[in-house]
Amino acid sequence: MSDLLHPWFMPQWQRLCAQQQSDRLPHALLLSGPIGVGKRDFARALANRLLCHQPTPEGPCNHCHSCELRIAGHHPDLVQVSPEAEGKPIKVDQVRLLIDHLHSTAQQGGYRVVIMEPAEALNTSSANALLKILEEPGESTLLILVCHQPGQLMPTIRSRCQRIDFTTPSHEQAVSWLSDKLGLEADRADQLLRLSHGAPLKASSLYDSDLLEQRKKLMSGLADLLRGRAAVTDLALQFNKFDLLQCLDWLNSLLSDIVRMQMAGLPEPVVNPDMTRMLQAVAKQAHSAKIFALADRIQEERVSLMLRQNPNRQLLLERLLLQWSDLARKT
Ligand SMILES: [Zn+2]
Repeated sequence: MSDLLHPWFMPQWQRLCAQQQSDRLPHALLLSGPIGVGKRDFARALANRLLCHQPTPEGPCNHCHSCELRIAGHHPDLVQVSPEAEGKPIKVDQVRLLIDHLHSTAQQGGYRVVIMEPAEALNTSSANALLKILEEPGESTLLILVCHQPGQLMPTIRSRCQRIDFTTPSHEQAVSWLSDKLGLEADRADQLLRLSHGAPLKASSLYDSDLLEQRKKLMSGLADLLRGRAAVTDLALQFNKFDLLQCLDWLNSLLSDIVRMQMAGLPEPVVNPDMTRMLQAVAKQAHSAKIFALADRIQEERVSLMLRQNPNRQLLLERLLLQWSDLARKT
């Protein structure tokens, strides 16, 4: 079985394979679901199978001419379109180049697959240009749009695709997959998954990247701030280089833990058990109005970052850290 084909995708995979076998595959698929559940891997697994001239039930044969071209990394019938830099839009010129490519190159006797990711990075002009392909994609061509937030896509694009929804797998399945993949104890895999909202691929990249180190520094900075052992400006300067969206996410998860402890009376945090002492102290002292005000602020900053409004990172962090340090104040 291919490394790309994760066990929690089997229902979607089998449905599409059945559609292909009965020649009912649509021209465009919209793979939709949260970040880090493996939509990209699914798109690649499907592309690999469709490009192969002698696919087996497990996937591509990896021996035919088409598979050789793909493995060598230059299959003319596999096109991937993504923003030129993270956070930037997919430009109309990129879509025009794609149209030219689809019209000018001959197919290798099989399917042609375009993977576009993330599809919500299409702006109005590139989305309009893409509509032309969706209306006349050409023979045996499949366009796969990978999308984390389908609500941000133009309805005219959405309505021309067959939508396939992906959700996070069961916690058990995710823990078992992650511990196998990374060779971890189940409780370590469990912690990584909690920090990743249950998304296995996100948990895996969290383990591989220096994000865990960033989280450690953020957590110890937050604890120092509450004890009056660190200054807001210095910490903001230090966190400035961190993955800001991820930091907001972590901060938010601390607040959810605090709210659960205050409202539901849980003795210990659920998502951040490594920060139990700090969180117990805040849950005891902080007024819930302050906690919800901070949660609102995080949500606002999140939206502004997602809309790529390029906020002043230092100021953004200073405001948040100031509000966080205020949680420990009595008034
Ligand atoms: Zn093959």
